[in-house]
Amino acid sequence: MSWRGFDVHKLHHGLHQFKTEVHAINEEFFGQLAQGQTPDAVFITCSDSRIVPSLLTQTDPGQLFIVRNAGNIVPPHTDASSGEEATIEYALEGLNVKNIIICGHTKCGAMAGVLQPEKLTNMPSVEKWLVHAQKTKGIIDQHYADLDFDYQHSVVVQENVLVQLENLRALPCVARKLWKREVELHGWVYEIETGEVYVYDPIDEEFEPIRHGRDGSLELADGLSMPR
Ligand SMILES: [Zn+2]
Repeated sequence: MSWRGFDVHKLHHGLHQFKTEVHAINEEFFGQLAQGQTPDAVFITCSDSRIVPSLLTQTDPGQLFIVRNAGNIVPPHTDASSGEEATIEYALEGLNVKNIIICGHTKCGAMAGVLQPEKLTNMPSVEKWLVHAQKTKGIIDQHYADLDFDYQHSVVVQENVLVQLENLRALPCVARKLWKREVELHGWVYEIETGEVYVYDPIDEEFEPIRHGRDGSLELADGLSMPR
């Protein structure tokens, strides 16, 4: 593996800083983490370097069990288990995690690839991978074909979260837990430019930003609607 000198130096500096300034003053916390993990949620998101789940959610190590790939995709169940399915199954059965979040994001390169597959000619593996978002593409073609690219790009991110939630629900390990009401599924979209996270409300059928109520509780406000 080759690293550009600048990057590896920066990473080495970061490792040293973490060990001496973060780990050293939180030894008890990391000592407890070494005993085991009880994460609160499975967090499925894109590999995009601008998405930092623990920063976004202000969570500590041990709280999020993270699954990442291009386009926050959940491949459907097949006889050949995917890494995503195996990881989710482990979280549900091995760690008894009660929540699964699929978090898409604005300006997603994978979703741009869904809209413009002709630009993927030198990326055959990406093209094959995005077959799992073919249903998302179909929704855009059917309902948003007349809209400009920027609008389609915004909508495809939202629609893909919903399509991947469907795939998630259909995984046998998730379906079993849903049947027993032992897991809840959530669809989010993170807007990089504003820091806002939109949460899908299945009753209103739209993504709505989280607002803090006067008593400090979280509530949903009016948000992104997806006209059809
Ligand atoms: Zn992305």
